[in-house]
Parts: sequence; structure tokens; C-alpha cells
Amino acid sequence: MFDVIRIPAFKDNYIWLLHKGAAAVVVDPGDARPVLEVLEREGLSLAAILVTHHHADHQGGVASLLAHFPAEVYGPATESITGITQPLHGGETICLAALDAEFQVLAVPGHTLGHLAYYGSGCLFCGDTLFGAGCGRLFEGTPAQMHGSLTRLAALPDQTAVYCAHEYTEANLRFALAVEPGNRHLQRRVAEVALARAKGRATVPFSMALEKATNPFLRCSEPEIVASAQGRMARAHDALQVFAVLREWKNVF
Ligand code: ZN
Ligand code: FE
Repeated sequence: MFDVIRIPAFKDNYIWLLHKGAAAVVVDPGDARPVLEVLEREGLSLAAILVTHHHADHQGGVASLLAHFPAEVYGPATESITGITQPLHGGETICLAALDAEFQVLAVPGHTLGHLAYYGSGCLFCGDTLFGAGCGRLFEGTPAQMHGSLTRLAALPDQTAVYCAHEYTEANLRFALAVEPGNRHLQRRVAEVALARAKGRATVPFSMALEKATNPFLRCSEPEIVASAQGRMARAHDALQVFAVLREWKNVF
């Protein structure tokens, strides 16, 4: 098993650095500088870069990392990714020899159309698809695509450690509580996250079990959530319609 180092970047991004021995793999390096600092500090060399989608805060550091290391670059074949050497569509299994680990590549359209997630060794790297108590904005995809993507992620094992790319959990929980105020698990998470953030601690990674218990976007069939959605739009009947209402509501919350 590999170790994972959290590298904060920009205002609220997390770049994930995986390493085993002296070899490292980095996920969504939006900025090269903090990654190079960690590689130097830990005495690691970069073997591969995984990119989930084309936004600059996820791939902006790729070019300068490649100037320092001859790394393989995995990413969505259908998006414009700097330096890509291993274009992926989802459905592949990639073998990262540097980590002695395999990852399943999952197509998770919604935030962008080519968005990928990487799942291996019980860890999910999901970029801007699933967040703590929330999900990514629909910049390119449809509600149906994002709902399908989140449903597939939620089917991963409960103990899956979810490594998303932003520290958005606290704000997402405010929305979640407005949607489902009677959820005891959610109330407890709100308190725990408030404490963690007050101490400057990260809320990522978190377990898929916790998401299934508290993330409204994974709970679109729960009666209290359906009722909240119908309060916004009476025609919200099935889980997909509820999801679409929640996603639009969150945009203006
Ligand atoms: Zn993004
Ligand atoms: Fe992002």
C-alpha cells in the first residue's frame, strides 16, 4: 500500500501525492510549486500524473512538473490536457508500477464531459465530482449524467476513502442541513466538521459510508429530501428530478 500526502494549493484545492518508496504519483497538480517542494523535502521522484479533468486548477502544474520529471500523464482522452501520454475514456484498469498498484478508471461525466475518477487500494480520487456533503457544478454535463456518475461512485464499498479536490465540506454541510434538517448523522457531521475547521484541520478524505449517510446528492430518494425538493419544485418526483432541483438550489443557496 502507498502513503498519501495532502498538498494544499490555491484557496481550497487539494493535490494528492501518492508514494511508495522513492517513487511518487500526483493527482490533479493544478500548481507545480507546492508539489516540487514536497517531492524535494521527501526525496521522491515523480513517476506519473493522474488528471481528472481539464480545469486549470487540476492540470495547471503539469507542464512544469514535466520539465523536472519524465512522468507519464494519465487523463481524459476527450479533454485538452497538457502533456497527456496515456489518454483514457473510463473502463480501463491502469497499472502504476511506481506504486505497485492498480487503479480502475471510472467515467464520471457531469462537472465536465470527460471527467474521470481513479479507484484503487480502497481509495477514490474523484476530482470535482463528489465533494464532502456535496458535488461539483454542472459546467458541461446534464443532471442525468452527474446523477449517474454519483450513483456509480456511491456503489463503491462503504469503507472507500474519498479524496476529492476541494475543501468545500463545511459550506456544503450548511446546504445539506437546509435540505435534510432531521438527519442525525448529518447533524453530527456538521458539529465534527465545524470543530475540525476551527482547528484548521482538513475534512478530506472521508468515507463513502459517511457520504451515503449525509450527502443530499446521494440521498435523492429520502422522504425528507424529496419533500424539500418538492417545496422548490412541485414536479420533483423521481430521484433524478430531485437531484436536478437540489443542484440548481445549491447554485443560489
Ligand atoms: Zn473543476
Ligand atoms: Fe476544481
